[in-house]
Amino acid sequence: MMSEPVLAARVAVPVPLQRLFDYRAPDGGSLPPIGSRVVIPFGKRQLVGLVIEHGPAETDSELKPISEVLDGGLIPPELLGLIDWCTRYYQFPPGEAIQLLLPVALRRIKPFRAPPADALELTPSGEEAVLSRAPRQAEIQNLLRAGPQLRQSLADAGFSMSALKRLIEDGHVRPTEAPVRVPRKDDLVLNPAQRQAAAIVLAARARFAAILLAGVTGSGKTEVYLHVARRLLARDRQVLILIPEIGLTPQLVRRIESRLGQRALTYHSGLSDGERLACWQAARSGQARVIVGTRSAVFLPLARPGLIVVDEEHDASFKQQDGARYHGRDVAVLRARQLGIPIVLGSATPSLESLNNARAGRYRLVPLAERAGGAVQPRWRVVDQRGHKGAMAPALLQAIERHLEADGQVLLYRNRRGYAPVLMCNACGWQADCHRCSAHMTWHQQLSRLQCHHCGSSMPQPPRCPDCGEPDLAAVGAGTERLEELLSELFPAVPVHRVDRDSMTGRDDFEQLLETVRGGGRCILVGTQMLAKGHHLPAVTLAAVLDVDQALFSADFRAPERLGQVIFQVAGRSGRGQRRGDFLLQTRHPEHPLLGQMLGGDYLSLAGHLLDEREAAALPPATALALLRAEAHQAELPRDFLKQAAGLLRSSAVELAGPIPAIMSRRGGYWRFQLWLQAPERASLANLIQARLPDLAALPLARKVRWHVDMDPIEL
Ligand code: ADP
Ligand code: ZN
Ligand code: ZN
Repeated sequence: MMSEPVLAARVAVPVPLQRLFDYRAPDGGSLPPIGSRVVIPFGKRQLVGLVIEHGPAETDSELKPISEVLDGGLIPPELLGLIDWCTRYYQFPPGEAIQLLLPVALRRIKPFRAPPADALELTPSGEEAVLSRAPRQAEIQNLLRAGPQLRQSLADAGFSMSALKRLIEDGHVRPTEAPVRVPRKDDLVLNPAQRQAAAIVLAARARFAAILLAGVTGSGKTEVYLHVARRLLARDRQVLILIPEIGLTPQLVRRIESRLGQRALTYHSGLSDGERLACWQAARSGQARVIVGTRSAVFLPLARPGLIVVDEEHDASFKQQDGARYHGRDVAVLRARQLGIPIVLGSATPSLESLNNARAGRYRLVPLAERAGGAVQPRWRVVDQRGHKGAMAPALLQAIERHLEADGQVLLYRNRRGYAPVLMCNACGWQADCHRCSAHMTWHQQLSRLQCHHCGSSMPQPPRCPDCGEPDLAAVGAGTERLEELLSELFPAVPVHRVDRDSMTGRDDFEQLLETVRGGGRCILVGTQMLAKGHHLPAVTLAAVLDVDQALFSADFRAPERLGQVIFQVAGRSGRGQRRGDFLLQTRHPEHPLLGQMLGGDYLSLAGHLLDEREAAALPPATALALLRAEAHQAELPRDFLKQAAGLLRSSAVELAGPIPAIMSRRGGYWRFQLWLQAPERASLANLIQARLPDLAALPLARKVRWHVDMDPIEL
């Protein structure tokens, strides 16, 4: 007689194995529903797992029972489906689901207790209570008459906690899930282009639509998001806004709150475990109406989703570069599709991927070509640096001087922190290189050390050349630290602010600096990427990019796209206020065709050219690309592993190239190689790789190298 197959719970377990594990129902209980958080025995340990699906047990051997069901059905099936797709497409172990779906606080073996609602409201008795004999309580009563408030904001506003406690004990005040109102600023009147953009999104409010809002910097994209968000909030829907980095959150959150008249919760790595849990819970319960988060927030459970916004959608930070290598923007689009809600991808410099999707009719391209509020685009000019030795050509220095004299602010972009990118021996040409990476070490004058920006190693300056013994070592080139020094010497009466990871170390440093700068007054800002992003600095009238030449000749096929994005973003910082701005591009290759294309027009036509080139070269996004990467301390190991892997992956459906060294061929002591896999379709490429993954893992060399698959890689 055949016995019935046992029904098992397939559980994602936080281990780096490409599979789920089967368990039976807990002793004396039934199988917990999918999405349940459970404790399971794993080897000698007890681990927290997630029930992903039910199915007939795969093995005959006796199944172990689930030890404990912590929370039944915690994660909605919609999110489990999303994760399932991600594990198969991005080729990461199902156990990563735990990291992606559960905040740290829920990865521990403890039942989940919803944190108490953190807002307070008046009860009906509290509305009526006459509290004239308790003035402190009356003050709180008065405030709460306007609507619920956060405990925290009451505390911050200096209300007495004992009075509050008393009100709660007397039943006049109680915790509530009701949304907390924030004083709302008056609405802006959208201009016709913004109105049209908003109407397009709102027309799709109850179904999936992907809208690529390509608005030049300052065109009022954020106002469009907020306008649409307000409409959806009025329908009791939640709004999820994804942003690339936490650096921008405080500013954006305040703006969102005051425009929407709602509190916005944040979700990112800068929060404590408790704060993250509270946001996760409020998103899941629906109490959080507006959530602003980085990449990982795309996996937040949402009770009543209405809209997803991905701001600065072109930003590489949306791609996770280790572990689960997913692209937050692409996953967000998929999620919106599953939820049947609109998604807005916003950028002044959209990615070629998204523009390609617009070309193919999958996204709707909505351009905003003009700056809102009357500001006009800056004048562009190329500064020819040939024939000048210094970091800044005279024409650039003159422009800086002119703008400062006119009480303008100046913003200089240089993609290199530290004092000098190279330390060199003047006698023999020796250069200070990292022992573990194929890279020069950067000279940091303030630290008086050489630092490798790739592996973090550092060392003091050698007293003399290790090769020839000459003491004459020269700092070559200029990073932000040196530029700051030069500018302070040249313009001693003007404050020079350096903005990079070395100078902005405190949590609020950057935020405070931006405040100061917005306050007006002449100054020079010099810095890295941090400066190029999304800041509204109305008094900046001159912006300049100091070095484009490296990017013009990079081996990375994305370099022209990235350069274009940086240039248009930096240019977009200039002249956002009353006065028209200037934008300067300093180069030793003024005749380079790419620069011609940029100066010729707008970002979208540049991107159009670049997309045509990618198509002609059969590069992404015209084709799908995956990398199989491998690295080890000995160069032969990854190379041999990838050669064998290539044998296993060969198929008529994919084109294989490699093994070839990564652009940075050695990092942190590891030699890095990669295999390029290309196919016309992303799905078929992913399927093929997934099917061969077990064979790859079974190669003996697979245990001797570090290797992984990167779908849609953005680092080569
Ligand atoms: P983006 O997100 O495209 O960079 P923002 O939405 O931040 O643009 O708007 C840029 C500036 O223009 C902000 O100061 C904003 O308040 C202002 N602005 C946007 N839309 C309007 C409008 N319709 N009328 C007046 N000012 C506007
Ligand atoms: Zn030397
Ligand atoms: Zn290094």
